[in-house]
Amino acid sequence: MPMAPSLGSRQEQLSLPFGDAPLWDGPRLQQALAREAARPVQLALTDNRSVLLSFRRSEGAVQLRLHRMFLHAPLAVVAAVARGLRRKPGRAEAQVRRFMNENLHRVRKTERRLPPLLTRGSCYDLARVFESLNHRFFGGGLEVPLTWGRGSGRARRGGLTFGSYDPVLDLIRIHPVLDRREVPLYFLESVVYHEMLHHHLGGVPDRAGRTVYHSRAFRAAEARYPWHKQALAWEKENLSHLVRASREADAQRKEERARLAHAKRPARRSRA
Ligand SMILES: [Zn+2]
Repeated sequence: MPMAPSLGSRQEQLSLPFGDAPLWDGPRLQQALAREAARPVQLALTDNRSVLLSFRRSEGAVQLRLHRMFLHAPLAVVAAVARGLRRKPGRAEAQVRRFMNENLHRVRKTERRLPPLLTRGSCYDLARVFESLNHRFFGGGLEVPLTWGRGSGRARRGGLTFGSYDPVLDLIRIHPVLDRREVPLYFLESVVYHEMLHHHLGGVPDRAGRTVYHSRAFRAAEARYPWHKQALAWEKENLSHLVRASREADAQRKEERARLAHAKRPARRSRA
């Protein structure tokens, strides 16, 4: 049975003198949600950067995980969240989505800062690759920091993640294994171009409310890169070589770190 937000509940929102102070604390928000949803709600507040709202039902109760930004949610938004709990997990109400979009700065606040940007490699200068692509395909209009990644922890099953786009940091990282002479410029370009498209096109929600990044529009735009097919073919042919090269570089870095740690030890001891 749909329940209208009850009159008077607005008074439960904390009234604080500061414009940006939270409107709720955890227990009060949970109470309000339970009342609006007309069922028990177990609320967990999170600092999760990618999932702002998720819930599942178990034995009549709803286990709801909400980003802390919802402590700032006006009652109407809380009521909309509660309405959503009566439906299947999936697409959030428009009002809730709007609130989340307007409060993304609260997500960003808790984040690590941009790492140092290293664009000049030993073979390729990423800044120049970016500028050229920006000019040729985006009318020079894109502004997004990029850097050679550290190459660690990016291996995945069956290959390597050559590039990534972090929408929260708004940062493109390119795997350093691509900074070598045997990698053709068109392959590096296709990887950077792909990540630039992620920045440019963003995600599109599908019917279930999940965000789709490689949408049909994305694939169409990706194919506009003139050497797209060649790049795919080159990757297929050279992937195992690159995986091996990346592993070797990993091992070298590890050795280097160990040597540095060893060299530092006497200095530390003399200070003590
Ligand atoms: Zn992608």
